[in-house]
Parts: sequence; structure tokens; C-alpha cells
Amino acid sequence: MCGVVGIYNHREAANLAYLCLAAEQHRGQESAGIVTAENATLHQHRAMGLVQDVFPPDVMVKLTGRNAIGHVRYSTTGSSTIENAQPFIVRGQGHWFALAHNGNLTNAAVLRKRLEEEGAIFQSTMESEVIMHLLAKQNSGSVVDRMTAALKQVEGAYSLVFLADGMLVAARDPKGFRPLIIGKLGDAFVVVSETCALDLIDAEFVREIEPGEIVLFDANGIHASKPFPLQQKKAHCIFEYIYFARPDSHIFGRDVYPIRKGFGRQLAKENPVAADVVIPVPDSGVPAALGFAEASGIPYEMGLIRSHYVGRTFIEPKNEIRHFGVKIKMNPVREVLQGKRVVVVDDSIVRGTTSKKIVHLIRKAGAKEVHVRISSPPTAWPCFYGIDTPTREELSAANMSVEETRQFIGADSLAYLSQEGLYWFEKLEKREWFCDACFTGNYPVPLTDAPHIMDLARSRKCSSPS
Ligand code: AMP
Repeated sequence: MCGVVGIYNHREAANLAYLCLAAEQHRGQESAGIVTAENATLHQHRAMGLVQDVFPPDVMVKLTGRNAIGHVRYSTTGSSTIENAQPFIVRGQGHWFALAHNGNLTNAAVLRKRLEEEGAIFQSTMESEVIMHLLAKQNSGSVVDRMTAALKQVEGAYSLVFLADGMLVAARDPKGFRPLIIGKLGDAFVVVSETCALDLIDAEFVREIEPGEIVLFDANGIHASKPFPLQQKKAHCIFEYIYFARPDSHIFGRDVYPIRKGFGRQLAKENPVAADVVIPVPDSGVPAALGFAEASGIPYEMGLIRSHYVGRTFIEPKNEIRHFGVKIKMNPVREVLQGKRVVVVDDSIVRGTTSKKIVHLIRKAGAKEVHVRISSPPTAWPCFYGIDTPTREELSAANMSVEETRQFIGADSLAYLSQEGLYWFEKLEKREWFCDACFTGNYPVPLTDAPHIMDLARSRKCSSPS
């Protein structure tokens, strides 16, 4: 998954991009990059690591110019290397441009093969580079015309920002899988993945870029166009509401926090259990656990404390410590758990390994019973539109029944939010506006690069009794 930012016409463009990326750090912790444009000159810095480590002051002073784009990355496709860090820059035929992309394309492999056969040389394994090559091949028309011609060839999810001489362009795929938002700061325009980034720099929320919209910012203001055929059904990613977006953001026309809390309320109504305390798996389970406690009347407590200061790499002790990976991040509060019937709420089970370790930690701290409640339906299908999920073979819900998963994680009971409960905030007739392929296998855009998954999903649906 990734976060993007674009700044148009601000004397501190790089600093603002930096701050917005810091606010979007939860969307990607592997690499970060900023490109600034100063007239016809580009300045770039990309590196592996967190925003605060990637951009020390001596780097920031070199990123001059009034326009900037930035990117934070968590690898979904392409390996975790510096070549795959964004933004990408392309120079040629007297032009240059830079691009940062959030989302996954579903026909990138097919397009890449074709481009390579035509002589294109790729610098990375990133599918976003395919967009760059398609753009570079368009040598006539306005920037928006060329971008439209390139984007018409790609399928899948993209929320992207694009810097060219004297302009910033932002575009969102016709289904609107990933969020993309316009803000304003004085005379400057800001484009971000999430509104929490606007809040940090005191920018005003203007509006979301609509699905299928291309928005150009230049010296004459904003120019919006919708060059793609109108889509009847949008496909906003429901997992943004469940897990990915920050709860203080406003995306897809709604605030994330109340929706996430409502998932917990709904979960409690659907799957009640007699218990003494409700605890979240911090931080992702907090709003849903609050909702669960509210609806069930069971007291809410912090039964697990998360350390916010451990990164992804740490020194492992030579003498093996059981469940070290989860223990370094999370420690139980014995006083809350001892002798209690505990409900522990998390947003999702992917492989099931985290839940297994957490149940073990809670039991070891003296809990009498451990009831796991998950504020989304079982994740049974991989995402091809930008969320980092493992293959279907690794997804616990694709391979085990709920009862088998309960046994695997060692809980006294396990229950998930239903598909109906998930849409508690939606009117029934609007259900089509979300992509929930990770739960249903209903992939809204063809998986050109992974036809076997699409075939499997179709065959499962045909054979299922519902
Ligand atoms: P697992 O051990 O694979 O079942 O992981 C489940 C945990 O991963 C839950 O606590 C989720 O909050 C978290 N999670 C869910 N989706 C993702 C994702 N795409 N990237 C990182 N963590 C995730």
C-alpha cells in the first residue's frame, strides 16, 4: 500500500510534502521519496526507511522549488528495493515528468511484456513504471491528453500525482478504489491520500477527486476533466474503512472513525458473549473495540499495551524467546486480564498468526476465557488493487472453517462481522459502491494478470449454495 502527496505553488513545497508524507506514514513504511520542480529543473530524493529518517535537514534544503510530489511505500508488487521507491522520473524528447502512484494495476504484466517487446527498458519491477512508459510513448497533445491516452490502457487501481514543467496533475481510476483528496493552503493547492495530512499542515479540505477524474493545477488554476466512460458502479476499497486509513481521516465522503466504531457495535449485536472486559488489539482494533463495549455494555480496558518505538528490524536474542515478534510490540496488562472472561477485538485475521500469539499472551496473563471478535468478514481472497495481502494459500479463511481457525488460534470462541453488518452505514441500494473482493471474491475489475484467481472465484460462487 502507498500514500501520495502533491503540492502546487508553495514556497515551502518540499517541507509541506514531507509533513504530509509523515501524516501518511501508516500507508507505507518501506521507502519514501520527494521530487520537487524548480522551473525546468528537478530535484529528487528517495531512500528506504521512514520519512523522518529519509529526509534529514541537509537533504531537505536541496529540494527547492514551488511544486512537489511525494510517496511512501509498502510493497504490494515489486520487491522492497530502492529502485522500486517512488516517485519515478522520466526524461526524454525534451520533456521530463515525475509520477507517484497508489494502487495496483491488474494488467501491468501484460502491458510490460508488450512494452519490452517494443524495446522499452525498465529500471524497476514496479508496475507503476508501466504508466511512465505508456506516458513517454505519447508524443502529441496536451499533458492531460497524453495522460488520458496512457491511462486508458491500464486496468486496476490508481490514485496518482504527476509533476510536469509548471504543473501538477492528479488522477484517480474510474472505479475510485483508493482515496485522493484536494486541499488548499492560501494560494497553494495540495493533493493527498488522506485528509489527516491536510489537517497537519492546516490546509483546507476542498473536495475528493472523483473516480475517473483528471485534475490539472497550473498558473491558470484548476482544470478538471472526466475522460473515461462513466462507470455505473464505483469500487471504493472497504478495507480502507476497516483497517487502512487513519481513523481521523475523511475519505469516500465519510469520516473513518464512526464507521470503524460502528463495525464494533454491529459485531457485538451479531455475536454477543458473556464477558467481563473488552480489550482492543492496539492500535488497529481500538475504534471497533470501543463500539463493541458500547453496544454490549461490557467495560472497555486496555489489556494490551503497544510499544510505538520498535521498528520493523530489531535484534533478536540468541536464546529463542517464544512469540518474540509479537511480544516486542505488545505486552499484556495482567491486572486487567487476570481471572477475567476477555473479549479481544481486532480488525482482521489474515494468516492468523497474530491472533494466535495474542490469544496465547492473554491466556498467559491469567485470563479465564478468551473470545476473539473480528470487525470484518473472513479475508478469504487476495487483493489485487493495492492492499498487501498474501496469496490465497496463506489466507486462513481460504483454507480453514471458522471453527478450524478458532482451534488454530486457541480461542474459546471466534466470530467475524457479517457481510450485512459491514454495510451498517450504507443504504442497501448503494452497496455496489464498495470493493469487498477480499471477503467475497467479487473482483470488480478483471484480473488480466491473474486469470486463475478470477476463474476460481467464479467457480466457487457457482458451486456455493447461496
Ligand atoms: P495475521 O497474523 O496475518 O492474521 O495478521 C493480522 C493482523 O494484521 C491484524 O492485526 C491486522 O490489523 C493486520 N493487518 C491486516 N491487513 C494488513 C495489511 N494489509 N498490512 C499489514 N497488516 C495488516
